Amino acid sequence: MPPGSLSKRKGVDVNEHQSQYVIVGGSAAGMAAAHTIRAKDVRGTITVLSEEPDVPYFRPLIPFLVSGQKQPEDMALTGSGPYMGADIAVKTGARVAACDPDSRSLTLEDGTCYGYEKVLFATGSRPYVPPEIEGTGAEGVFALRTLADARSMAARAARTAHAVMLGGGLLNLKAAFALLERGVKVTLVVYSPEVLSQLMDPEDAYLVRKALDDAGLTIHTGASATAIQSDPSGVTGVALDNGEELACQMVCIGKGVRPNVEFLQGSGVAVDGGIVADRFTAASRPDTYAAGDVAVTHDPISGAPIMTALWTNAVEMGRCAGMNMAGIKTAYTGTFGILNATQVADEPFVAMGVVHTRSGDYEIHRRATATTFRKLVFDPGGNRLVGAVFVGDIRNAGLYRYVIRERMDVTGFKPAIIDHTLHYGHFIC
Ligand SMILES: Cc1cc2nc3c(=O)[nH]c(=O)nc-3n(C[C@H](O)[C@H](O)[C@H](O)COP(=O)(O)OP(=O)(O)OC[C@H]3O[C@@H](n4cnc5c(N)ncnc54)[C@H](O)[C@@H]3O)c2cc1C
Repeated sequence: MPPGSLSKRKGVDVNEHQSQYVIVGGSAAGMAAAHTIRAKDVRGTITVLSEEPDVPYFRPLIPFLVSGQKQPEDMALTGSGPYMGADIAVKTGARVAACDPDSRSLTLEDGTCYGYEKVLFATGSRPYVPPEIEGTGAEGVFALRTLADARSMAARAARTAHAVMLGGGLLNLKAAFALLERGVKVTLVVYSPEVLSQLMDPEDAYLVRKALDDAGLTIHTGASATAIQSDPSGVTGVALDNGEELACQMVCIGKGVRPNVEFLQGSGVAVDGGIVADRFTAASRPDTYAAGDVAVTHDPISGAPIMTALWTNAVEMGRCAGMNMAGIKTAYTGTFGILNATQVADEPFVAMGVVHTRSGDYEIHRRATATTFRKLVFDPGGNRLVGAVFVGDIRNAGLYRYVIRERMDVTGFKPAIIDHTLHYGHFIC
């Protein structure tokens, strides 16, 4: 149906807005899909509907807005101009409230309808705010997710002497360092026995922990917040379950994320935690697709259903969805349950595949120097590498990722893996 033509489907008036491809969510997955579609279909109409007021931007950079090291224009994905050049219409401030796959239409919160031929759900996730913590609505309580959050956090930081971060995951650590950079004193309250518990066992995190301590973070492990105290000026303190009270002017909650799926209620699109996507990124109703943080995909090692919260995965899956939407059938190779390469407090680290080994039958090799730590996890038979943690020295991590991902039989070069002398030659001999 050409754009602008009149149609009435099941009582839904979609004459106003019709696009061949509609993408809900204009971030990593959504924009990767839009550009892939455009590369394969030069004429098809593409509309991206994005709830946020800002043009698409590189989300992992927002802590630098809090620290004052970057401005919003430094993190625009490719700016709004090139989208226009690629003839991709990006509608900001457009929150989709409902989807009707029978009439192939989406309804925005303001009542506007969009008709589609193919639709991608790339709505990502939002921070989880534990309901058991009292007072999370107070001014000065944040959960850093959007550019708008980063702006508000930066404004509050200007009158904050002490901030308390609830949660010891990577995102909260990034937010913590942004605040430290501004001269704010920061205390991290972590329920687990150690920081980064999603990415490594506590005994493997000691170098990261030392770097955090050296950088000036105060860390309380094995504790959680019960209430956030406030007065008309906003946050004044946090009460912990061990009876301690921490006076502060800001709280940042980093307790994981939840997928944005509510708009699919009643649509018949299968949701099981996130939106269920098949090996070709298709969701369960005709001509619907899902990619990014919101999608349930599969772990290439175990084949088990999995959701991740990583920019790189979202881009890869978005590209794959774009290919499929443009009619080029492309299988998605899956997503590691854990795959992270980053650095905190100038300490680089990589965690991939199976990293939690306190239970389970694995062959484990650990090596440490004063400044580096490496853990290699093999399957019980010892001939497949299934996971690795590198701290301090992450050289050649890509090779190890390849070995894990391809489920290679490593019998011929296992000593090289353990001795860290692995090179590409081992794969072609
Ligand atoms: C502070 C921070 C630092 C990070 N650092 C890293 C890092 O170093 N490395 C890394 O790999 N990952 C990092 N991440 C995670 C990474 O940003 C996400 O995995 C990635 O953004 C997911 O992309 P996505 O496109 O699936 O969804 P999102 O980026 O969540 O985007 C989804 C978009 O859809 C919009 N939306 C939701 N519902 C609707 C609706 N109903 N209608 C219209 N629009 C809707 C949302 O507003 C949002 O704009 C970080 C995240 C944060 C918050």
